[in-house]
Amino acid sequence: MKKELYEYKLDLFYYGVNLTDSAYKNLKKGKNNQVNHDDYITTKGLLLCLENQVYVNANLNKNSRYKIDYIDKKFILSESSEICQVHIFQPPNFALQTTKLPNGLPITNFVNIHGDRIRIQPIGGCANRCKFCNLNQIKYQLYSISDLEQAFLYALENHGFKHILISGGSPRNNNSDFQYLTEVYQYFGSKYGKRFPIDVMLVPRGLEPGKDSKQDYYNFLTKLKSWNITGIYANLELYNDSLRKKYIPQKDDIGKEKYYEFLKIATEVFGKENIKSCIIIGLEEVEDSLKAVEELCSLGCIPVLSPYVPIDNKIPSPTPEMMKKVLIQAQKIADKYKVAPGPSCNLCKHNTIHFN
Ligand code: SF4
Repeated sequence: MKKELYEYKLDLFYYGVNLTDSAYKNLKKGKNNQVNHDDYITTKGLLLCLENQVYVNANLNKNSRYKIDYIDKKFILSESSEICQVHIFQPPNFALQTTKLPNGLPITNFVNIHGDRIRIQPIGGCANRCKFCNLNQIKYQLYSISDLEQAFLYALENHGFKHILISGGSPRNNNSDFQYLTEVYQYFGSKYGKRFPIDVMLVPRGLEPGKDSKQDYYNFLTKLKSWNITGIYANLELYNDSLRKKYIPQKDDIGKEKYYEFLKIATEVFGKENIKSCIIIGLEEVEDSLKAVEELCSLGCIPVLSPYVPIDNKIPSPTPEMMKKVLIQAQKIADKYKVAPGPSCNLCKHNTIHFN
């Protein structure tokens, strides 16, 4: 019996996809003959849309049971028989060709586009050491706002996008690095926030390091709002305390309660529809992931289910069966609280466990 499209999405997360020679031939090639992003671990696959409905980031895998072929000028996904037509969203040319800014650095150091969202990365590397992330393997550095804006404008003129995420690494715990990131939020929010929705992804913080009372959170979040920032992502990541300590030591130091406080205040400042928190699925028991979903939904925060993408050979991806179980149960919890699992943008669902 044929599966539902979202089940193929979960399968594609797990198995990846193989491109036939004919499919590969009919895609744009990058500088190194690549057809996909050379990017952060959760966004480096091929962004696919199955039958104009379901979006998925599928890693390329020559041994996958799924393949994409090019037949009658269409890309077709099949297993032992044809499943559906797929649309392939390739990276922008500047990413494929490693186009550089006048400073000699690739534009993708500063921004990248997935679907219709541009990600601005004010910090190279990251001060935190989350074990499932590869961003912290890059040298830590603060980029200049001028370089970020040059890259941003290049991407706007040469590719285009509909919304913005300011993300990338977390700052070191000192005044100047915090201040720099605050200036980035203020600069892009004030200049572009009326033209594009802007989400900011960060760990709970106030305007300065160590400022973490409810009032400090409120002061920081209202500043962001006044600069036309649209919404916040503060990612809880995991629920289980011993696994938090193991996989996300710096976020564990902040503590779950502070995340809840920050997210709750954020829903009051920005409105519930604008506050999201990612949970990594596959590193802890399903029951723990569901407790995280319940906590977030009870705050009015939108849970976003992110499948663990293996960074080494130690822990495999979550199985499609496990992802399906989490998804169905999470949807029931979300329904109870009248919250829709996120993100709301269909294209941005490509690397999340979702029905679309
Ligand atoms: S805080 Fe974010 S960017 Fe930094 S290591 Fe953790 S997941 Fe990666």
